[in-house]
Amino acid sequence: MAKLLRHTTLLLTALLPAAAAVAQTAPIQITADLSEGARHLYHAEIEIPVKPGPVTLITPKWIPGNHRPTGPVDDITGVVFTANGKVLPWRRDNEDLYEFHVTVPVGVTTLHAHLDTIAPARVTTKMAVLEWEKLLLYPANMPVKDIAIQPSLTVPAGWGTGTALEPIGPVAAPVNTGIDERDHTADASTVTTKYAVTTVEQLEDSPVITGQYFHEFALAPEISPKHYLDVVSDEPDDSNVRPQTLAEVNNLVREADAEYKSHHYNTYHLLLTLSDVAGGEGLEHGQSSDNGIGEKGFADDAHQLGEADLLAHEFTHSWNGKYRRPARLYQDTFAKMQQGDLLWVYEGMTQYLGNVLAARSGLKNQEQYRDLLALSAANLDSKVGREWRSTEDTAIAASILRGGNPMWSNWKRGQDYYQEGELFWLDADTLIRKLTNNQKSLDDFEAIFLGKGGNTGPTIVPYERPELISDLNQVVAYDWAAFLHDHIDNVNPRADLAGIEQGGYKLVYKDTPSKSEKTLASVGSRRGAGIDVWYSLGLRVNGEGVISDVRWSSPADDAKLAPGQKIYAVNGQVFSGDKLIAAIRKAKGTSESIHLILQQDGFVTLADLNYHDGERYPVLVRVDGTPDYLDDITKPRTTPPATK
Ligand SMILES: [Zn+2]
Repeated sequence: MAKLLRHTTLLLTALLPAAAAVAQTAPIQITADLSEGARHLYHAEIEIPVKPGPVTLITPKWIPGNHRPTGPVDDITGVVFTANGKVLPWRRDNEDLYEFHVTVPVGVTTLHAHLDTIAPARVTTKMAVLEWEKLLLYPANMPVKDIAIQPSLTVPAGWGTGTALEPIGPVAAPVNTGIDERDHTADASTVTTKYAVTTVEQLEDSPVITGQYFHEFALAPEISPKHYLDVVSDEPDDSNVRPQTLAEVNNLVREADAEYKSHHYNTYHLLLTLSDVAGGEGLEHGQSSDNGIGEKGFADDAHQLGEADLLAHEFTHSWNGKYRRPARLYQDTFAKMQQGDLLWVYEGMTQYLGNVLAARSGLKNQEQYRDLLALSAANLDSKVGREWRSTEDTAIAASILRGGNPMWSNWKRGQDYYQEGELFWLDADTLIRKLTNNQKSLDDFEAIFLGKGGNTGPTIVPYERPELISDLNQVVAYDWAAFLHDHIDNVNPRADLAGIEQGGYKLVYKDTPSKSEKTLASVGSRRGAGIDVWYSLGLRVNGEGVISDVRWSSPADDAKLAPGQKIYAVNGQVFSGDKLIAAIRKAKGTSESIHLILQQDGFVTLADLNYHDGERYPVLVRVDGTPDYLDDITKPRTTPPATK
């Protein structure tokens, strides 16, 4: 009996080729070391299962949600491959600079890669953010959803960590095998945590925030699955989010649950960094979102207004963008171009829903929602670039439109599919309400479109335009194909203001800014206009008098003003924002020009602006006797459970 058993064991050992094949698909092991983040350096040790022969490894290029090839390959440095303790030569691909070629010697089953990354942003002495594309290396030409990987993370001892990755427990960090043998790997001052096996696709979608001042808040405990707000801040007090904001973020989870009626994550983490140096961010992921704002971004109502929709927008993307993904925007590797033609859904509908949910949650109030909508609608309506470029083209061209020089941006147009999409989906929402006597709304469409398959874990279900049309028709029969084509594909010289009007309001220009515009200007918000003379003179000008854009066909355009000029003086007085506004008031209803002295390059010129209509600021006003759908849309759907 015993002999026979022993023989069986030997037989099993002889069957090892099968076990070896399994070893080929064993997960990559990656340990990210963020403990030198304050020095703008991250390190990684990566163990990659391999077979002997040529191997091509790659790092991500097209980062989901960035809509651009932003993979930071240029920051990846100190790359060293070793096998069985021996350094192996490598060569970068001549055409695809994200690829590394290595020849694996006979007998080697695990290739070790060491690399460092220069982390220029999202790090301070008190916090670090890791987007995994900074450190990832994996076999090229394989769908990233099929590559298993197990991450570990090293951070300074005592720091808290927020991530949707599932922790297994603390482990010993691997030894640094880079050329640089300085002791920057784990010691008693660091802690390494291992996480559950995932895929390269999911790891790329699971950022980490870590910091000395860390708070994790469980949100809306009555709702399943679990939601968390994870906060790190540079100052100890800031990560203690004020109770009012925390209550509103709890409401956001409830409102999203009521709106979408499904979820596509096992747990969700709203990751929030509060820092004036780490830089701003808003990046969606399936089971988390990476939100970065200024140190005092939620510290009071005024600052919060400028950031009110950020969490709601990125959270909404878990459904619209992550779960439901435009067909060509989703690619099976990060090397292939992500095509943007349906971004007016991915971003535009999220822009709409994010603002609506922020209002329903109380992160901003209904009046603030309308004020900000007025600013956005007026901005779009005054963009003359819409005379030559469709909204769809701004989506197709997304990857070449972000950032860039603001000069003549009203003639160029930017990533307008966000705000144009917001107006478009508001139009669709109010149209459904109008057609159904307010019995149905875009909420019904969201439940269908975003809830297909019911509750799921993180997964991606691509769609094409006909599915949108079919789902809209399921809510109410209409020529949705023509509706989409007219608004999205056609060139439209005017913005789509139908949603505002069907909502019971009208966009008008008044001689005083809305309360919200004043608030935004008072805190210097990026959403605030600063000195707002865009709808009067046709200038974007900062507090120093530097002109960044001139509105086509405006009084400033007629006077041949140019972006890059600096206004020195207004009506004989040294420039200030107040002096410019005073000059507009003085010229109102008169025939007297506004006299400017301008500097351009090394020269000084004079210009006279013939403008006499006074200040003009966009606001929405109620149209009496019409249904107030706008306020129906933005009122809360849920109530917090009574406290015991
Ligand atoms: Zn977005």
